[in-house]
Parts: sequence; C-alpha cells; structure tokens
Amino acid sequence: MKKYVIIGNGAAAVGGIEGIRSVDKDSPITVVSKEPCHVYARPLISYLLEGKTDLKRMLYRPEDFYDKNGVTVLYGKSAEKIDPASKKVILDSGEELSYDSLLCATGSTPFVPPTEGLESVPKTHSFMTLADAQALEADLSPETNVFIIGAGLIGLKCAEGILERVKSVTVCDLAPRVLSSILDDDCAGYIQRKLEEKGVKFLLGDTVKRFDGTTAYMQSGAEVRFDVLVTAVGVRANISLVKDAGGECTRGIVTDEKMSTTLNDIYAAGDCAESFDITSEQRKVMAIMPLAYMQGHCAGVNMAGGEEKIDNALPMNSIGFFGLHCMSAGTYSGECYEERGEDFIKRLYTDGGFLKGFILIGKCDRAGIYTAMIRNKTPLKEVDFETLKKDPALAPFGSAYRKSKLGEAV
Ligand SMILES: Cc1cc2nc3c(=O)[nH]c(=O)nc-3n(C[C@H](O)[C@H](O)[C@H](O)COP(=O)(O)OP(=O)(O)OC[C@H]3O[C@@H](n4cnc5c(N)ncnc54)[C@H](O)[C@@H]3O)c2cc1C
Repeated sequence: MKKYVIIGNGAAAVGGIEGIRSVDKDSPITVVSKEPCHVYARPLISYLLEGKTDLKRMLYRPEDFYDKNGVTVLYGKSAEKIDPASKKVILDSGEELSYDSLLCATGSTPFVPPTEGLESVPKTHSFMTLADAQALEADLSPETNVFIIGAGLIGLKCAEGILERVKSVTVCDLAPRVLSSILDDDCAGYIQRKLEEKGVKFLLGDTVKRFDGTTAYMQSGAEVRFDVLVTAVGVRANISLVKDAGGECTRGIVTDEKMSTTLNDIYAAGDCAESFDITSEQRKVMAIMPLAYMQGHCAGVNMAGGEEKIDNALPMNSIGFFGLHCMSAGTYSGECYEERGEDFIKRLYTDGGFLKGFILIGKCDRAGIYTAMIRNKTPLKEVDFETLKKDPALAPFGSAYRKSKLGEAV
C-alpha cells in the first residue's frame, strides 16, 4: 500500500484522486484542504451571486465522492511545509503527514497591488472563492456602487454576477481592452460593447493612483466614488511549498509531461503548475479548469505507477456574459480568417500550414473540431480547410483521419 497526499481541494485535486484510483483502488489518499468545504466548481461563484445556481448544484463532485474513493479530507487545514528528505508534509496545526507520493494542487492567490490609501477603503473584496462571493454578497444592496479593478475574466464575471443586484458597476483596467489575456483587440471591443449595453461602465487604459476612503483618484484625473471595492487584478500561482522544498519554479511550479516536479515523488497540477503550451511553444501557467483536471488526472495516474502524459496542452477558454457565449483557444498570430455578423464573430488564425488559434463569439457550435485540429497539429493541406473554416463539420476530414485523430471531437 502506498500513502498518497494531495495538497489542495480543487479541480486538479479531483483529477488527482480519479487518476490515482484508475490505477490503485485501495491505498489511502489524504487531501489537505484550506477551504472548509466540499469541492465546488470555482467558475460558478458568479452564477451563485446572479441566482442562477445554488450551493448544491455548484458541487464539482457528488457529496459521497470522498467516501466512495476512500479519501480522507482534512478540511480547514493548511500545508505549511514539505520536507522531501523525510517525505512529510507539515500542517499549520503541527500535524505531520507522511507520503510516498505527493501532489501539490494549491491553485493560485489573488494579487492585490499595493496602492496608496488602500487601507482607508472600508469594504474591499477579492473574487476567487466561495467565501469571497458570500462575503461580497453580504455587502451588496440595490443602493451599492461597486468598483472593480481588473477587466479580466474574474473581474468581468464578478460584474456580471452582481450587476442586477446593485446600483452601479464600474470596471477599470490598466490594459486598453477587456479580457486582454484572452481576446484580441477587436473581439475585446465587441464584448465590452455588449457589457456596456447591459450597464457596466468601463475605465480602460487607466488605473488607481490613490484611494481616499470611498473615492478612487485615477491616473487620468477621473474620480470614482464607490461603496464596495473588488480587486481582480490577477492571480499568482501558489508555488511556495515546492519552491521552499527546493523544487524548480518560475511563475509556476515547473513540471514535465507526467506532471512531475523536479523533486522526487512530488507532482504538481492545475493553476499552481507551469507546463508547455504547444501553440506558443512556451512554458506557462494556463489557469483553466479543464486543464487543471487533466493535469491532476495525469499526475494521479503516474503517482500510482501508471503511465500518462500531457504533451498537447493549450490555452482555451469558454466563457459567457449575459447569454453571449465566447470560446477561444491557442494563439492569435499568423493569418486571420474572419466572418462576422450582427451577433457573432469568428476568427481563425493559421500559421505555417496549421490552425494555431481561434476566437468564436456568439456562434460556438462544434468548436471542439477546431480545438482538436490545433491540439493534433492537423496539417491544413490534409483536410478541406476551405469548407471547414466556414462550417466545422467532420465531412472534410477523410474517414481514416477522423478515426485516428479526431476521436475526442467526434
Ligand atoms: C470567478 C472565476 C471564474 C472562472 N471562470 C473560469 C471559466 O469560465 N473557465 C475556466 O476554464 N476556468 C475558469 N476559472 C479558473 C478555474 O476556476 C481554475 O483554473 C481552476 O479552479 C483551477 O483549479 P485548481 O485545482 O488548480 O486550483 P483551485 O481550484 O484554486 O484549488 C486550489 C485549492 O488549494 C487550496 N490551497 C492552497 N494552498 C493550500 C495549502 N497550503 N494547504 C491546503 N490547501 C491549499 C486552496 O484554498 C484551493 O481550495 C475561473 C476562476 C474564477 C475565480
């Protein structure tokens, strides 16, 4: 019997548990969970505030998930240190957990930029956890003016979640466009206009110079008066446990194709880990939920002695704002094929004879076919791309190709 320890209790940890159990049905698994609750789907916290879901439906796995998988969860406990020499994890309570194989699935922490006068703001929130969403909710009323710093995914999901419940929502960002790490200029402008039509106000290319209580003085000279502040500027990967134990880290914990860190018997997965993006050919933290699960699963299988690797990761996003759906994947370089209409945009980016990335807004049907083409590095000359770019269907692939390469999208 092996002893498995997983630090963290999000999508990557669930992947880890299911990966281990696909190989090893019996050995004990212990999960150290800083958050005091059952695993939930983090992206749903905005839908909770919007009233579109509830705590029960937010669960990422059923209530009996841990019992059924023979997992002991130490709720509300935090891992403070990993000692790779003695193969122990030391908790904040002083307890020590021995491991044979360890998965670090610690996710990330919101980054709050130091700003003059921030301490004078009476009500400030982050928007990362269920507890954050519940604390924010307690400060909202129909009379509340909310100021969100950060027009990235988290800031905009927060804006969507609370817009109908408050008097006003203003979002600022240093970048000149919304969703700057996900979309190109044109598509970002399209999403921004849709959000403005719903009532969200934006101050882009601008940032807070200083706060004085409930007033933000902006670099541009503008002043924003608000009741509640939400900081959603960005997140930092929680790397310190592995870094302090001697493991190689850059922005995230460095991992190989098996999600192994540079330390023996220690793996990392999810938002805390850095891995290879096949589209930009760079190592990066790709903080997206499906990848967190896949990386966790891969780590789990390898921890238990099986064989799995991830050598086709790419950044992908599937998001919606007020019913407008948007999917994106890969990088936006090379030649761009575009279709657009009143309520949709399609942009496909090709480079060197391969599909490298896409952005679909409004019409996202069968996007999985494009994702599979990027993932599988399908040479465009082997398919009827003229047809495919207009209509992502399977016919333009030969039948042998469909079977061998597009299994996941068929
Ligand atoms: C508002 C919002 C909307 C999002 N929307 C999308 C979306 O539409 N699509 C998408 O793909 N992704 C989305 N994401 C990102 C997605 O939620 C993350 O990529 C995913 O949750 C990462 O999973 P993880 O398991 O790596 O980390 P997490 O889910 O962050 O889990 C890590 C866990 O580890 C715990 N932990 C940290 N340190 C310790 C320690 N020392 N000891 C014990 N426990 C510890 C943390 O408390 C946390 O519970 C969104 C995120 C947010 C906040």
